[in-house]
Amino acid sequence: MMLNDGGLLQRLGEWFIAPLGYTLDAASRMYWMFWLSALAIALVAMLWAQWRERRVSVARAVAQLLSPHHWWRRSTVVDLGFLVGNSLLRLAVIIPLLGTHLMATLWVARALQSSLGNAPDLALSATAVAALYTLCFFLCEDFSRFFLHRTMHKVPWLWRFHKVHHSARRLTPLTLFRVHPLEMGLYYIRGLLVFGAVSGLFVYLFGAQLSGWDILGVDALGFAFNFLGANLRHSHVWLSFGPLERWFISPAGHQLHHSRLPEHRDRNFGTCLALWDRLCASHLPAVARKPKLVFGLAVARQR
Ligand SMILES: [Zn+2]
Ligand SMILES: [Zn+2]
Repeated sequence: MMLNDGGLLQRLGEWFIAPLGYTLDAASRMYWMFWLSALAIALVAMLWAQWRERRVSVARAVAQLLSPHHWWRRSTVVDLGFLVGNSLLRLAVIIPLLGTHLMATLWVARALQSSLGNAPDLALSATAVAALYTLCFFLCEDFSRFFLHRTMHKVPWLWRFHKVHHSARRLTPLTLFRVHPLEMGLYYIRGLLVFGAVSGLFVYLFGAQLSGWDILGVDALGFAFNFLGANLRHSHVWLSFGPLERWFISPAGHQLHHSRLPEHRDRNFGTCLALWDRLCASHLPAVARKPKLVFGLAVARQR
């Protein structure tokens, strides 16, 4: 059989640059703007920590931030392998499924219409509908992430897959991609269910008042979350939110989640809000000063 060399090369080229596509995708935490904002926030956090010790040095902060001793490690090379593998999987399986979000929305809206009849007239302005939709979506998104993440820790069969993420011994923003493909699939289904249910309910209730822009711009709060340093969750930069720790999971809070010390085990499953962890008694606020942490799998948890 003859191979079409041009087509094959083009396909290989697409696959090769697929991981770079994340840096141009504003929906991805790898978006270039989020790297820059994380860098700026990291520098401020490091200078703040130095100021408390009365030894401020910008050069030292930059050297610590970009240290090859942290970045160029076996753990990071493994993360890079996951980045390439998972981006190819996304290209092959998830992107072709993007239309399913709209289908799920229409299916839910039609199901509500046929089972409940016409929606009540709620007489809200378009701005109020957009704000309510964004808030509902954010809460459902954040809670469902917490619920699935906690379930992956608590159910031994699912922990076998989630422990791949926890096997990182060094945390860098690329650790986000160190995820078993089955976990990726479960998060995709979770996202589809949340998007379909919330968008379908709002299309049913508000129809014309809900513009396409509202649906597409729904992740405004997710954008803010990423812009405000979400990349530091997987990093060597300690950023706690001080008094706001009660309300939000800080990057330092997620680093405690990755700690293999027994006192940190099964804490801070949340993504953005601390509320869900507080309700389930799994919240551990991060203190201002960085404690000594060890990442990776504890021997007892490797089974
Ligand atoms: Zn976890
Ligand atoms: Zn993590």
